[in-house]
Amino acid sequence: MTETLAARDAETLTQTRYLATAIPGPRSTQLHEERVQQVSSGLGITLPVFVSRADGGIIEDVDGNRLIDFASGIAVTSLGASNRRVAQRVAKQLEAFTHTCFMVTEYESFTQVCDWLNRNTPGDFDKRTALFSTGAEAVENAVKIARAATGRANVLVFDEAYHGRSLLTMGMTAKVNPYKLNFGPMPEHVIRAASANPLRPAVEGGVEAALASVEATLIENDPGSFAAMVIEPIQGEGGFIVPMAGFIPGLRQLADKYGIVLVIDEIQAGMGRTGTLFASEHEGVAGDLILTAKALANGVPLSAVTGRTELLNAPHAGGLGGTYAGNPLACEAALAVFEQFEDGGLLENAQLIERVAREVLEPLLESTAVVAQVRGRGAMLAVEFADRGTLAPRPELAAAVSKVCHAQGVLTLTCGTHGNVLRLLPPLVIGEALLRDGLEVLAQNIVELAG
Ligand SMILES: *Cc1c(COP(=O)(O)O)cnc(C)c1O
Repeated sequence: MTETLAARDAETLTQTRYLATAIPGPRSTQLHEERVQQVSSGLGITLPVFVSRADGGIIEDVDGNRLIDFASGIAVTSLGASNRRVAQRVAKQLEAFTHTCFMVTEYESFTQVCDWLNRNTPGDFDKRTALFSTGAEAVENAVKIARAATGRANVLVFDEAYHGRSLLTMGMTAKVNPYKLNFGPMPEHVIRAASANPLRPAVEGGVEAALASVEATLIENDPGSFAAMVIEPIQGEGGFIVPMAGFIPGLRQLADKYGIVLVIDEIQAGMGRTGTLFASEHEGVAGDLILTAKALANGVPLSAVTGRTELLNAPHAGGLGGTYAGNPLACEAALAVFEQFEDGGLLENAQLIERVAREVLEPLLESTAVVAQVRGRGAMLAVEFADRGTLAPRPELAAAVSKVCHAQGVLTLTCGTHGNVLRLLPPLVIGEALLRDGLEVLAQNIVELAG
């Protein structure tokens, strides 16, 4: 069934891996040299390859190589990077108008996107939505909304969290290098609690101990001072960490106990990525606010804060907004994404991707001594490299495996506090044969380099 989906959406780009030159090829190398002369070196690069076309599970570069896309532009182009229905809706909107600024004059698609999110996000209560452009903006606006609604200042965040690179969200992000290094001072009123990492727990004693530690952090700082607690249902940049079962429901209880707004950051894990529309559905938890971005408009910048009406209506009129917030091109792209979720098949694809990936990758837990975990949900999966027994992280192995995969035409990413996690974020429309090809390249490289 993924074959048919991939075929439908990727008619123009052959869905097989193909190497015409070394990776990167001569044309990419030349273009990268020109980049270095013009672009700030503060922007990093995973693979210095220049793209000519991309769709389905394939990225074609300017040298004619076809790479398997296990990144989706970091969980963005879930429906393929040139999804036809997204392109058609955006093209039609382009001919009508590109922008009015929703704070100046209105257009219906903005309301329609909000309506769909209000109906489809977890939580059987009356909701409103506000649209923005980037994930970091959604996080910042959630904090503004929670502060306006509660009259409190503090924000609770967690170990291994990632919430963005803007000044406030950088402060909310856990890892210093590369996100915070030399960029201080950090914003005030951001307080960090222990997370519930099953492989590397911050406190011994399972989920109860993890929750007790969170409550102790709240009490130390006065629970009545917290406007919001912000949590990713699966921590993304922090290492694709699925928290211990019961942790997120426990946070829901703590939020209720102390009158704190629970903000679920589904910017990476949402929009079908984990095999359910929203990752918090796996925990049976509804946030008071839920954040979406990345795959929401399949690559056209759009983000949203959705949640309880009394929260979304707490800020004064004019207090929220942004020039490009909920831009009409992005709203049309999101509506095309929603249509394709309603057609069905995408969540099943995410589930199939997990089954196939586990089938190929889980044997490495036995056959090597350096794969500590194969984890994740749906099409948000990771391999953590660490020595069996001591669990000493092996970041050099994650980097080396990624590097040989890139050379063989498989685009993989790394992540994690220790940089020792290789993550897989294939588009949900990748064909099964292509998926298997990429996974087998990965598995073989792990075996060879682990030895
Ligand atoms: C990517 C990401 C963000 C930030 O989104 P940007 O669009 O890069 O600002 C926030 N939270 C999570 C969980 C993310 O993965």
